[in-house]
Amino acid sequence: MRFLISGAAGFIGSHLCDYLLSDGHTVVGIDNFITGSRTNLAHLEAHPRFQLLEGDVTQPVRVDGSFDGVLHVASLASPRHYYAHPIETLEVGSTGTRNMLEIARKNNALFLLTSTSECYGDPEVHPQVETYWGNVNPVGPRSCYDESKRYAEAITMAYHRKYGLRTTIARIFNTYGPRMALNDGRVVPAFLDQALRGEPLTVYGDGSQTRSFCYVRDLVEGLVKLLFSDERYPVNLGNPNEMTILEFAEYVRRAVNPNIPIRFEPLPQDDPRRRRPDITKAKRLLNWEPKVSLREGLEETVRYFRELVRSPIPSR
Ligand code: UDP
Repeated sequence: MRFLISGAAGFIGSHLCDYLLSDGHTVVGIDNFITGSRTNLAHLEAHPRFQLLEGDVTQPVRVDGSFDGVLHVASLASPRHYYAHPIETLEVGSTGTRNMLEIARKNNALFLLTSTSECYGDPEVHPQVETYWGNVNPVGPRSCYDESKRYAEAITMAYHRKYGLRTTIARIFNTYGPRMALNDGRVVPAFLDQALRGEPLTVYGDGSQTRSFCYVRDLVEGLVKLLFSDERYPVNLGNPNEMTILEFAEYVRRAVNPNIPIRFEPLPQDDPRRRRPDITKAKRLLNWEPKVSLREGLEETVRYFRELVRSPIPSR
């Protein structure tokens, strides 16, 4: 099959390219490199079934040939990035999603939207189940991301209802692994970067807020299973192993350097207090659940970041 992937040079996009290529498919990737990096795809440069286009999916997209599947993965998923680029974030979730849906419609292709647990905002239901509608501040600093993804889900459902398009929606919870950018700002690369440099770990607030971290290989398997499924409503994909950010900091200290101190910094506005996916639906429909433990996943990620800290690559 021939797939189009937006955000192919990003963290999750590049792993999806690898996965689909190793399954024998052909992949055309598109990226504007606002947060993605060519380095993430350097190993595919000479691959006969892979092509990378530089392009912005918020503008009319011209790609040659037909597609069996369209995966809209392009996104500014880190709070640091969407605070810095709020308009681009809104655009890629809205116009970008529409443009990718149009390509899927013209090709009668499968469509996958990578949505987010941020659709639940600061959740009042715990763990978060897909039928919960969320608690999102529509005018807060995170709204550019949250609301664009909620719009993206809405327009994806509209294309399914109006045109019968075979759409799928993944609500991705915190994911980590190799190819996250060191300067990404999210907690996993931030703590690993700090620990490897011997700097204090910056815990925001008192560190009692919770997250649960899914290794990227597990996530990508779930995304591909979902793409080929008949489920049209959103499906949570993430690891239900919940911990406080302070516990996670301890984990990183044990894994990298137990002597690193912790520095407490102010909690950003609207930072969700608790987050943990209910993955009952994914287990039932996709026969999917994460397999990689935090220990194993962190080991692989630390190995990657050690190399990066030793010989940093440019962010583009
Ligand atoms: N966080 C932190 N220190 C950092 C970066 C993040 O304590 O250097 C916290 C952040 O406040 C949040 C959690 O870690 O509660 C996860 O943040 P991240 O930016 O990774 O993603 P989010 O889940 O908020 O989208």
